[in-house]
Amino acid sequence: QTSARPKLDAARVDRQRPLVQPWPQAGSIGTTLLGPIGSGDGIYVTDEAGRKLMDGPAGMWCVNVGHRRAELADAMRDQAMALSYSSPWYTTSAPSLQLAERLAAHAPGDLDHVFFTTGGSSAVETALRFMQFSNNVRGRPEKKIIVSRQGAYHGSTYLSASLNGRPRDLNWMDSLSDKVVMLSCPNPFQRPSGMDEAQFADFLVDEFRQVIERVGAENIGAHVAEPIMASGGVIVPPAGYVKRMFELCRANDILYIADEVVTAFGRLGHVFASKDVFGIEPDMITFAKGVTSGYFPLGGVMISARLLEELRRSNHPEAMFAHGLTYSSHPIGCAVALKNLDILEDGLLEHARAISPYFQKSLKTLEELPLVGEVRGMGLMACVDCVADKVNRNPLALDVEVGKRIDAHCQERGLLVRPLINMCVISPPLIITEPEIDRMTEILSASIRQTM
Ligand code: PLP
Repeated sequence: QTSARPKLDAARVDRQRPLVQPWPQAGSIGTTLLGPIGSGDGIYVTDEAGRKLMDGPAGMWCVNVGHRRAELADAMRDQAMALSYSSPWYTTSAPSLQLAERLAAHAPGDLDHVFFTTGGSSAVETALRFMQFSNNVRGRPEKKIIVSRQGAYHGSTYLSASLNGRPRDLNWMDSLSDKVVMLSCPNPFQRPSGMDEAQFADFLVDEFRQVIERVGAENIGAHVAEPIMASGGVIVPPAGYVKRMFELCRANDILYIADEVVTAFGRLGHVFASKDVFGIEPDMITFAKGVTSGYFPLGGVMISARLLEELRRSNHPEAMFAHGLTYSSHPIGCAVALKNLDILEDGLLEHARAISPYFQKSLKTLEELPLVGEVRGMGLMACVDCVADKVNRNPLALDVEVGKRIDAHCQERGLLVRPLINMCVISPPLIITEPEIDRMTEILSASIRQTM
């Protein structure tokens, strides 16, 4: 089933450069992959060697409006020339106030306040610290356990990373595991044998109910969940699951924090997916990435008015939420986010909704290949999950790294995908067209065949 590792990887390693990239392995730490991306335009990027590649993962799930948008570049430049920075502690800037208002108008329910951060990890960290602060102020300091799930990815700061549930990321890293309870991954493809999808949903919800009984609702502060687990392999949970988990939280006074760092800003066809796709109104929503289409680092947390009101009415009006980042509400980030939102509202959300079925259907055809166990996804995010054997759905051994080999073959044909061990994730810029989707599927098909 395995073919020789393409030479590409070895040729791309450069030991000279002082750049330490994310997720390095100890044995090769400090070595840098060659092949810088030099430029981007639309759904394409061009590497150092001049190869034009379709940007299958839209950078890291983020370049939603596509590369080289003059409107975004202008917005950044204009803002830098008007006001390059102002302290979020003592002042506000016009773009941050405007963006807060526009996001509040899009957010579901009473999520009409926003705390801006620098990205997704700091957004999740902020949401969790807010939950801790709120429970301290409200006189229930024991109510702080966080419920997360196997397969989740919520960030790389200490607290947010403690919620991560991808096995390979946990092996060598410390975490605040005494503060976190992990539930099963809601991946229907890997559900226990003998269960149909509806029974699997019952099983998952029941598991959460049992955790609440065992740990005690009075000790659980929040459940944090990506509506669709992204880096865990685009896990589309069974029907009804998200809503039932949310209702269980509501019934037990546990905050539901939807981590929409990937799913917001058009990836599922809406500004926020929680209400429009899953029918829930979370207590907080974390976002980043697509909010600026990756043109500037920015993230944030939408917070329910109810939670703020509870603080205002508490017995400790003097208590300080001692949390803030120098670049919270950065004016340039907020200016680019406003322009990005204009583009999304001006037809791109509709385009994403209209083209998603074609994208999913086209990639689904890859399931006929022997190596492919499942192609799953929603909106403009999808995952090709490769297996050692289709009947038992056994994943390939970790060291096979089939995703990386498929990616290398795809690159030779002009497509970047995001390899994740035995999977490849595809989440293109939302501006992708049907002929481009056809081409993407052709390249994937040829590259997977070559890998078998
Ligand atoms: N949450 C989710 C769902 C993510 O996918 C990511 C990053 O991929 C993060 C949080 C962390 O975001 P950042 O890398 O911007 O800190």
